[in-house]
Amino acid sequence: MMDDAANDVRHDHKKLGRELGLFGTDPLIGAGLPYWLPDGAVVRHELEEYVRAEERRAGYRHVYSPVLGKRELYEISGHWSHYSEDMFPPMRLGEEEVVLRPSLCPHHAVIYRSRARSYRELPLRMAELGPMYRSELSGVLGGLTRVRAIQLNDGHIFCTLDQVAEEARGALRLIREAYRALGIEAARYRLSLPGPGGKYVAAPELWERSVALLVEVLESEGIEYQAEEGEAAFYGPKIDVQIVDPHGREATLSTVQVDFHQPERFDLHYIGADGAKHRPVMVHRAVIGSVERAVAHLVEQHGGAFPAWLAPVQVLLLPVSEGELPAAEELLARCLAAGLRAELAGPEQGSLGARIREHRLVPYQAVLGAREVAAGQAALRLRDGRRLEPLPVAEALARIGERIAARGTGLWEE
Ligand SMILES: [Zn+2]
Repeated sequence: MMDDAANDVRHDHKKLGRELGLFGTDPLIGAGLPYWLPDGAVVRHELEEYVRAEERRAGYRHVYSPVLGKRELYEISGHWSHYSEDMFPPMRLGEEEVVLRPSLCPHHAVIYRSRARSYRELPLRMAELGPMYRSELSGVLGGLTRVRAIQLNDGHIFCTLDQVAEEARGALRLIREAYRALGIEAARYRLSLPGPGGKYVAAPELWERSVALLVEVLESEGIEYQAEEGEAAFYGPKIDVQIVDPHGREATLSTVQVDFHQPERFDLHYIGADGAKHRPVMVHRAVIGSVERAVAHLVEQHGGAFPAWLAPVQVLLLPVSEGELPAAEELLARCLAAGLRAELAGPEQGSLGARIREHRLVPYQAVLGAREVAAGQAALRLRDGRRLEPLPVAEALARIGERIAARGTGLWEE
């Protein structure tokens, strides 16, 4: 069907990513190792800062941990025996072998046990937006969806068994709020269970407990889900939030996992109210999953017309003629001072209509004609085609700023 084909092309994130100057790849850097261009870097930066701010509000503390770890670290975590196919081969360094990390969890477990913990510190919520690496085969690589270097929005909650359900619920709420802000729709929720074969840690009783906890969380939140075998992490079951691309292909973006295994392997404990040592549970969660996949999905979902708070350029200033250029430059300075990402497209770039078309993805376009300049006003055009009555410049900027601060996909509050 013609229409569908046209639609597919418009929403291919690789093609749009090139056209919009968001990211690129080069065979010399290597397959699956995209670089981010300035406009793409703005989107990524905004996304990362948003997630960090939401996490801080939800009681997380952020850490940084190195992208390398000794082979022994992953032997303890179980990655070495259960996940080595997806890992880069180790690098020899003197007597040691170091590995590009396939996940952040082992580092966080080690940070947790870097000092004694009391039950009063639990739930201890640790987060990091950090890189991890996956040795994807070159045949399946492309764009931002299959990459070898992944920026993961990871977080681990170390808590008591009694706290698991509430912490998992809190993680799901963060995910749903992020989807609202980003204009992403979850296609479905999947309860991912282990399948047959030796890929999974053998501890039937622990698996059963973890599954029961996740089911309790899904049901208490009134979330419909489908259980599927063979999709769990090797150390535990998970709730996967699935998204669908314009081609109908499904992928996992966000996850919440319950893990009894790694606390055991790393011998984690806390001192309880009874003065004795107890084992915490680890809840793993990713709010927006990987930054790469999230941005790929946002590009395709919005066809490049990002929610205003993420847009590389938020306000475009359009002086109608040379005469309004000084006023436009002054307004540009005011926008930048107000923290808005603004650009000026002057008459040397063509007719007003041509300039508007050229920058059609910019959410707010301020047209400055002789009348507006004389009155100290700006006539806003919104990306969706709406034209607003001219507003005093200060009011226009304040209202744009409010909309951006509120996130979400709406462009204007009537
Ligand atoms: Zn983890």
